[in-house]
Amino acid sequence: MLQTLVRTAGAVLCTAAVLAAVPAHAGDTPIVIRLYDMATGDESARGAAMRTASAAIASAGIAVSWLDCSRGGEAHPCRTVRNANDLVVRVMPSRGPAEQQQAAAAISSGDGEVQLGFTPIDPSGRGAVIATIYYDVVASVSRRTGIGAHELLGRAIAHEVGHLLLRAPGHGRSGLMRPLWTDEELMQSRPGDWIFSEADRRQVQAAARGSAPSTSVRATPAIDDSSEGEAAGR
Ligand SMILES: [Zn+2]
Repeated sequence: MLQTLVRTAGAVLCTAAVLAAVPAHAGDTPIVIRLYDMATGDESARGAAMRTASAAIASAGIAVSWLDCSRGGEAHPCRTVRNANDLVVRVMPSRGPAEQQQAAAAISSGDGEVQLGFTPIDPSGRGAVIATIYYDVVASVSRRTGIGAHELLGRAIAHEVGHLLLRAPGHGRSGLMRPLWTDEELMQSRPGDWIFSEADRRQVQAAARGSAPSTSVRATPAIDDSSEGEAAGR
């Protein structure tokens, strides 16, 4: 499997916006996300990350109902059968050895990119339901940029869930689904960087209605691969 390191970034909305409840609109499409946080052990931080992710995903017209399947979470342990349309987000403590070596090689070569998360996408647009976030990278980028770890985690979750909702590989040119998040962007507060672009919102809605994924509204992918990861660059 060819895996490509792509660059991602996250930035900051104001605290009030992040912590505010996310109102669901009547026309929003409901989805269920099962969250398995195997890294933080912090229920309140996890809650803040879920609210951040919900707010970002709501910009695509999608209303998230969370099942917190993490140890200590409200729904733990999630023993109910997963609905076919339910999505799964795993927050892993760290990357596997292969990914760590890849990241070390990228940094030593001056690239400076590391993956925040990983979402394998079936080019057919079917079957992809699991997104993975690497918390050691989230924590590292958080320390480097001063962005709250729960906020960065929420944005990373929203981006990876975005791939599942778009049901297509590749990235947009702007907004949440752009491939690279730089430290500079992370430290700025440009709300447009952390919501779905209009093109991506339309594509998410088309996919939610069950229509075939259209490439006409997608920007040219920066990375055109069947699998992809995210990184925060400098
Ligand atoms: Zn991505």
